[in-house]
Amino acid sequence: MAVRNYFARIHEDMTAWRRDFHQHPELGFDLPRTASRVAELLRSFGCDEVVEGIAQSGVVATIRGRTTASGRAIGLRADIDALPIEETTGLAYASQTPGKMHACGHDGHTAMLLGAARYLSETRNFDGVAVLIFQPAEEDGCGGKLMVEEGIMERFGVSEVYAMHNLPGIPTGKFAIRHGSIMGSTDEFEIHVSGRGGHPASPHKTIDTTMIAAQILLSLNTIVSRDVSPLGRVALGVTTFNTDSRASNIIAQNVVMEGTIRTLEPEYRERVKARVEEITHGIANAFRAKASVTWIEGYPTTVNTADQTEHAILVARDVAGEVDTNAEPLLQAEDFSYMLQARPGAFMFIGNGDTPMLHDPGYYFDDEAMPSGASWFAGMIETRLPVNQERNV
Ligand SMILES: [Zn+2]
Ligand SMILES: [Zn+2]
Repeated sequence: MAVRNYFARIHEDMTAWRRDFHQHPELGFDLPRTASRVAELLRSFGCDEVVEGIAQSGVVATIRGRTTASGRAIGLRADIDALPIEETTGLAYASQTPGKMHACGHDGHTAMLLGAARYLSETRNFDGVAVLIFQPAEEDGCGGKLMVEEGIMERFGVSEVYAMHNLPGIPTGKFAIRHGSIMGSTDEFEIHVSGRGGHPASPHKTIDTTMIAAQILLSLNTIVSRDVSPLGRVALGVTTFNTDSRASNIIAQNVVMEGTIRTLEPEYRERVKARVEEITHGIANAFRAKASVTWIEGYPTTVNTADQTEHAILVARDVAGEVDTNAEPLLQAEDFSYMLQARPGAFMFIGNGDTPMLHDPGYYFDDEAMPSGASWFAGMIETRLPVNQERNV
């Protein structure tokens, strides 16, 4: 396949770009070096437009096909931020910044989309506009949401949008996807229980918030299985538990617990949230304590649309042969979900082989996946914006 041959030829360049990003990881929206390097490379490829500073540090480039008669534009997105993790890989090109690391492979996503940009800019074998979206703050900060709110879909006329994430455990360069929900939603909660402190020698004169909060914690863990099916792909975790007592002879006045819920199906999201409220207030009332639940809404479920998913599978098959079209969904959340709420599209997994899992300090992106990934990006443009042969003879 011609597209693949091209990327085999520029594999060394993509690897060099990727390793340079890897050595210089940046976090959230604070991506001055990464964003300017992305923009510099895009300009050197001859992209028609390179716009910096979208959603603070995002970059969007456009490449016009040899004709734009279709009037259509397709968006391809890569995330460009790293994580606050101390790298332990010991690789020659390991992070040079203490406490920061590309432990989710966004350096690889960025290099693959840059490779696709170079190919598309040189060949222009499509009818319409390729819109290349380099997004900040995927890990934390809703960069994808901000890009949508700043109007990138309208400004660049994007009608469909596609993205890819590497995944350890799938053979390198192979693809996996599923129709419908593929990544979960996330919500965080804080539960505040207040009662009456006192002496543990006279517990009957107190309202013992530690005991009450513990009952709430244990009961919240029955939601998955007793309220929603254990097959319902829901996770709930209470992850912090703090009392305001600082001594063993004081019963606390207040307890604060934090936790998170992850759901794959949107209807479970609301049901689990409602049960968290009900259980918290019910138990607090039973023991005459006061309780409040505060929610921090996180990323919504990432939902692949039918037609676009089918095309994503066709292109993946063309690139890598057999495709897993019934991939196991993940309850990790992904802020490409906001772009999929704005436009139809699909989110694809690309195999990263037998490496440590994402966010592990020993994780590394497998450079051998890059020709596949870049071919898929480029193939999506050529397939979704086919040149009308009659018009171009
Ligand atoms: Zn991540
Ligand atoms: Zn990621």
